[in-house]
Amino acid sequence: MTLAPSYTKGTETRDGDRPTLASAQSLAARTLPPERIAAMSARATVAPGRREQMVLPTPWETEPLGTVRRSTPDDVRYAAELAREAQAAWAERPLKERAKVLLRLHDLVLRRQSEALDLIQLESGKSRGHAFEEVADTAIVSRYYARSAHRHLASKRRLGALPLITGTVEHFQPRGIVGIIAPWNYPLSMGITDALPALVAGNAVLIKPDAQTTLTGLWIATLLDEAGLPRDLLHVLPGRGSDLGEPILDEVDFLCFTGSTTTGRLIATKAAQRLVGCSLELGGKNAMIVLDDADLDAAVHGAIRGCFASAGQLCISLERIYVHDSLYDEFTRRLARAASSLRLGVGLDWTYEIGSLVSSSQLETVRRHVEDAVEKGATVLAGGQHRPDIGRYVFEPTVLADVTPDMEAHSCETFGPVVSLYPVANEAEAIARANDTEYGLNASVYTRDIRRGRRIAARLRAGTVNINEAYAATWASVDAPMGGWGDSGLGRRHGSYGVLKYTEPQTVAVQRFHPIAAPWFMSNETYAKLLTGALHVLRRIPGRG
Ligand code: NAD
Repeated sequence: MTLAPSYTKGTETRDGDRPTLASAQSLAARTLPPERIAAMSARATVAPGRREQMVLPTPWETEPLGTVRRSTPDDVRYAAELAREAQAAWAERPLKERAKVLLRLHDLVLRRQSEALDLIQLESGKSRGHAFEEVADTAIVSRYYARSAHRHLASKRRLGALPLITGTVEHFQPRGIVGIIAPWNYPLSMGITDALPALVAGNAVLIKPDAQTTLTGLWIATLLDEAGLPRDLLHVLPGRGSDLGEPILDEVDFLCFTGSTTTGRLIATKAAQRLVGCSLELGGKNAMIVLDDADLDAAVHGAIRGCFASAGQLCISLERIYVHDSLYDEFTRRLARAASSLRLGVGLDWTYEIGSLVSSSQLETVRRHVEDAVEKGATVLAGGQHRPDIGRYVFEPTVLADVTPDMEAHSCETFGPVVSLYPVANEAEAIARANDTEYGLNASVYTRDIRRGRRIAARLRAGTVNINEAYAATWASVDAPMGGWGDSGLGRRHGSYGVLKYTEPQTVAVQRFHPIAAPWFMSNETYAKLLTGALHVLRRIPGRG
């Protein structure tokens, strides 16, 4: 069965007095005149005298937005030299001063949000509402680390080797230069929020935005300049990952990578060769479970947001839904109807709920997964079509049923607006099928019984589990770690993990009165006996580590 969608085309609505999209190119040209692009381009780090250019694509039009300066491997080395010098001075600045920069960024990003929304939309193609999630996320993370850095980074007194005689303190020293390699799907959020804890911890940062979303990366750097960050502390290096990835890894003391599992493995291999740490935020094939006692309205609403946010180009979006037999038909009917009535369009206004895919290669993957599923017997309950009449990379929010393991959509990450529904007989089957993946990023459970939800969460192999929410509850809980198990990554962002990974723990111990060795008048054998007795005594003292 195919339900006919009723979409709005992006041609006529208005956002205040802003003219909307008659042609993306004219809108882009109006929104981003060449002098504005040139100002942002000047924030890219290139060695003096260099003038290589790269084209800035927009998913909305074949005509590019313009060009910016492209960094080369030599520029990476140049940026690292500047960054190292700036970092030494930055690390000496009191933590309070470093944190203030983040608070100023918080205010600036909220005040200047319409610029950010325009850029994110023009570069990624997503709807304005989804672009706003990135502005909110950047503000939330700025405020969080500005306010909590002292708690995470404060030196901590530890139990000394010998009570009273050894005074031991753990410190958190900045690593030096942190590299951030970011994807295109959340260009503001993924481009900067991982850099903020690195900066507040006293590091310098080299950021390589995805080539698809360079301007957003440059724009946020200019905002940090305004917020008072020393300019040489943060460098934006526009270019392709295949050109700049290795040179960046050669220079940095830690690399935070967000992107595909395939590239993540390459990064991990290279980081291992250099013996530098890395964190990897990778792909997912995230599952939602709708139990027999779920609130159906809430579950359908959650599924719509979880499956189609940023047209499904969200690492924590939901691509599989396991629904209890007793609710399956009703849930399916409601979800298909809701998906079909989403307002799909492209334009710099708040009208459209779902925007465009980012590129022809994303469109090809989405199309391939849907066509392969249909050819092998899947049923399209909603969507299923490319909509070039709305935008060249626009694809309808798509709900599939009867998906089987031989179909690509079953276990491969689509990273697009496509979800598969599966009926399950009971809780145990739902858990087993949700866990039947190499990935382990996000999961969602809908139930009216919170204790039951928590019990199921404990059995799910996923870094985040949202109960009665799709993804936002865990994502926005920035005091708690966020990241994946298995093929979904290594390490975490957010919370104390998200800042301590950018530090080298250093233990400083002061020995008083006597060294930890036999006194001159005692034989080693007697000393060993004495120490053995002392260890037995320590064993009996409760609370001693
Ligand atoms: P990708 O791995 O192709 O690209 C991501 C970044 O890596 C880009 O900046 C790219 O230029 C760079 N890159 C590419 N090849 C490189 C190389 N050889 N060396 C160094 N850098 C290189 O990823 P993509 O397909 O563009 O992004 C989508 C993927 O990212 C999806 O799988 C999605 O799930 C994942 N993702 C994960 C998270 C998360 O937090 N777990 C967030 C967003 C996206």
